[in-house]
Amino acid sequence: MTVQDLITPGTVLGRYTVERVEALPSIQATAYLLRHELGARHLHIERDDDNQTFAVFFPTVPSDSTGVAHILEHTALMGSRNFPVADPFFSMIPRSLNTFMNAMTASDWTTYLYSTRNEKDFFNLLNIYLDAAFFPLLRYESFRRDGHRFENADPADKTSELKMQGVVYNEMKGAMATPSSVLWKALQKALYPDLTYANNSGGEPSEIPNLTYQGLKDFHAAHYHPSNAYFYTYGNLPLERYLDAIEAGVMQDFTPNVLDVSIPDQTPFTEPQNVQASYPSTDTERGAQALVAWKLGHSFDPDENLRWKVLSEVLLGNAAAPLTRPLIESGLGSALSDGSGYQDEFREAAFAVGLKGLSAASAPAVQTLVLDTLARIASEGLPAELIDSALHQFEIAQKEVSNSGWPYSLKVAFRAVGPWLYGGDPLDGLNLDAALARLQEARNNGPIFEDMIREGLLNNTHRVTLTLVPDPELASAQEQAEREMVARLSADFTEEDRVRVVQEAVSLLESQDTDDDVSILPTLTLSDVTRKVARPAYTVEQTGGAVVGRVEQPTSGLVYLDVQVRLPELSSEELELLPLYAFTVTRSGAAGQDYAALARRIEAVTGGISASVGSSTGPDSLDDLRLSMSFGGKALSRNAGELVSVLRDVIAQPEFEATRLEQLLKQRVAGQKAGIVSSGNAYAGRLAAAQLSPEAALDEQLIGLAGLKRLEALVESGDWASTIERLKALHARVLEGQGRLCVTASSGDLALDVSSITGLFGGRQAAHVSSPLAPRVPVARTTDTPVAYNAVAFQTVPFTHPDSPALLALGNLLTSEYLLRELREKGGAYGGGAGFNSHSGVFRMTSYRDPNIGRTFEVFRQARDFLNGPAFQGEGAGLRELNEAILSASKGLDPLTSPDTVGRMRFYGDLGGYTADVQEAYVERLLNVQISDLIRVMDSYLTPDHAAYALLAGKDPNADTAAQGLTFKVESI
Ligand SMILES: [Zn+2]
Repeated sequence: MTVQDLITPGTVLGRYTVERVEALPSIQATAYLLRHELGARHLHIERDDDNQTFAVFFPTVPSDSTGVAHILEHTALMGSRNFPVADPFFSMIPRSLNTFMNAMTASDWTTYLYSTRNEKDFFNLLNIYLDAAFFPLLRYESFRRDGHRFENADPADKTSELKMQGVVYNEMKGAMATPSSVLWKALQKALYPDLTYANNSGGEPSEIPNLTYQGLKDFHAAHYHPSNAYFYTYGNLPLERYLDAIEAGVMQDFTPNVLDVSIPDQTPFTEPQNVQASYPSTDTERGAQALVAWKLGHSFDPDENLRWKVLSEVLLGNAAAPLTRPLIESGLGSALSDGSGYQDEFREAAFAVGLKGLSAASAPAVQTLVLDTLARIASEGLPAELIDSALHQFEIAQKEVSNSGWPYSLKVAFRAVGPWLYGGDPLDGLNLDAALARLQEARNNGPIFEDMIREGLLNNTHRVTLTLVPDPELASAQEQAEREMVARLSADFTEEDRVRVVQEAVSLLESQDTDDDVSILPTLTLSDVTRKVARPAYTVEQTGGAVVGRVEQPTSGLVYLDVQVRLPELSSEELELLPLYAFTVTRSGAAGQDYAALARRIEAVTGGISASVGSSTGPDSLDDLRLSMSFGGKALSRNAGELVSVLRDVIAQPEFEATRLEQLLKQRVAGQKAGIVSSGNAYAGRLAAAQLSPEAALDEQLIGLAGLKRLEALVESGDWASTIERLKALHARVLEGQGRLCVTASSGDLALDVSSITGLFGGRQAAHVSSPLAPRVPVARTTDTPVAYNAVAFQTVPFTHPDSPALLALGNLLTSEYLLRELREKGGAYGGGAGFNSHSGVFRMTSYRDPNIGRTFEVFRQARDFLNGPAFQGEGAGLRELNEAILSASKGLDPLTSPDTVGRMRFYGDLGGYTADVQEAYVERLLNVQISDLIRVMDSYLTPDHAAYALLAGKDPNADTAAQGLTFKVESI
């Protein structure tokens, strides 16, 4: 018996009272719900997992769109009572071995959250987080830096143009230029016009300047109080240790407080509404979206919530789903619109569905089609198999314990938080068994989903049809409006005001140049770094053209199957088609079944299957390029044989058909185009690196803008018959390759028969994959965006070269010590950093949502001067920076894994030459990197003559970069 076994409802722990203790057998955990005397709620999930996790949630319900909740989220992290340095949050990133660190603002709450496998680190970060949330300094400079401020184009010259600046201000200018963000905000405003959701909690750029400094401080005092706080902890330490730290760090300084953050019900509409919103884009032909949305019941009602989730999965969960299929096959648009599906992140939930990639004139037709299809489904009835398939997806989601994407501990938190903050039961989402049983019982008494469609949707007058329209004039109209706003707000400026703007700007810049004494912040040391990498055991069999690895892992009743195919040499024509092949092969028909039949089969017996194309580099040579197609899937143990059979059919006998191919190709092109701006730094970085690195050049052809251009040309040509012939020929080449299978399962499922797949492969591998470099010219691609994404790239050394670890550390050092300060703090960019890809050998510096271009390239160039400057000269100089750089670099070498990933990573790593020994040697070298190594690798590899440049922006950059001697070749996307 442990002490924890003695904790029962009513147990008093300090000033906390335990209200509930509940076993959660389906996730092998125990939940403790507690209440503090001050009113704070606490949910602790005790689970045998060393990834200790903390989060605190505050309900934040803004009453305007000044972005107060979001600006507070930023500024709270900029210095606190015990840690009065400029940026404790960013300063802690390299002093920690965290597996997650962030803060975020949703529509009606704000959270600060992190996780780490190191116990000392957990309590270090806890002190920082608690102090930041409850005792931030909220300095006037922080408000101006991350909120908004006037600043002259030349900050020191009061006669130069006056502008609006601020980190959040620029962040939201970028965000509100993307169609998905504009649509999402417009949808909330349309469905809940009388509630807090009608406001933009992130901030509308035109309203952010209305926030006052006092308004920010008042919002903090009211909302970030223990009485309004929901604490979440997760891990395997004794409960009291978490509680004691929170009591000592926060609670003793407060008295109870009452704040009404409740959100009422929205008054229902008596008639459906039509709403239009616009976003900046020149794609007037295919840039529109239409979305039909309904307000539903309370999202914290466990039965309602589960039923709508299931119904949404039934209606929209796969390509053959009864609502998805007619929408896509109508040809009105190319894919389901953003925001489609059941949405429970509002107190009253919503269901929405529509299409994107359409012309605005088609919006009424989309609405008619949605309503007619729903009416038909309600009258014909939903087949029981479809509901069973959807429920089976929930069984998988409930069982699976995976750190892929997000730490599992945070997935648990986000399942609990919605109902918790709205006054429901936080454990509902963690224990679906009871609600699932009630659902099955209700099904036995007659159909329920058809009634939900009738009552919740068709007869529900609280409906909005939202049309999102591309507006080619909007970008310049917004720029004009911004200039007018600045003119209006500064109309009464006296000479004194103008002098003050310059003084404040200069002092803000200077304050960012003074080095903070971060020694008051806690830190880990290099002795905390794990020198060993995980070596999970696996077995290997060789069978003909394939090799099979089997890894035993505690997978909670799931079986994972990966099939990687190392490809033989491909012609450039074949290579070009690979991304399309990967995208369509799992979405088409196979082995005599059309795409709809195959999609239903995948939904019924698997947790999803995937296909992707990947390139990699050997550990010893940057020219040792490898190209592979990877297929993968997972299933419940009882369906493992079916998983093999589905994957076999997809790999062995894909069937491409013209109508479906056209749909998919258009979907792919629209999806990729829509994502360009939000990953602008990655696209720019790839364009630059493709001029130097064979692997990046290959990537640019596969997933970069060059690849996109070719797909667009294919859509344009409309030549489906010959494309299908080419896909078939490529398919034959794929099967010539070498199969590398990996089975991950618990012992009972490990012997899975995969011979139907291993027998498919010829076993040939390319001796050499060639990939010509892009021409060595600075390139600029223009698209609809008010900000820029700038990049410079250098080609360096392969993984096993002795200089590689120093380059990895250098990337971390330049990011935290130099680029964040220059680009974000001084330049107003949302982000920026340096990164070294130790596999491809490419070193990059990039900026994200950046208002500057020429200045940023100057900053990149001066990185060498920074490293050769006074901070790193002389005895003992730069040691803190060095240690932090090594510590953060080591994180990437020891990633957070879980049973589904740890074995597969080892197996494929070993096959590719990145063995545990090679990786451990790398860690050892990294731990021994000296400052002189950083300076040496910088001076040998990152020199101007080794550099390649690229950027993405809204306009021709050349006037701006003339001073840097850079002339960009400009092309529009
Ligand atoms: Zn932000």
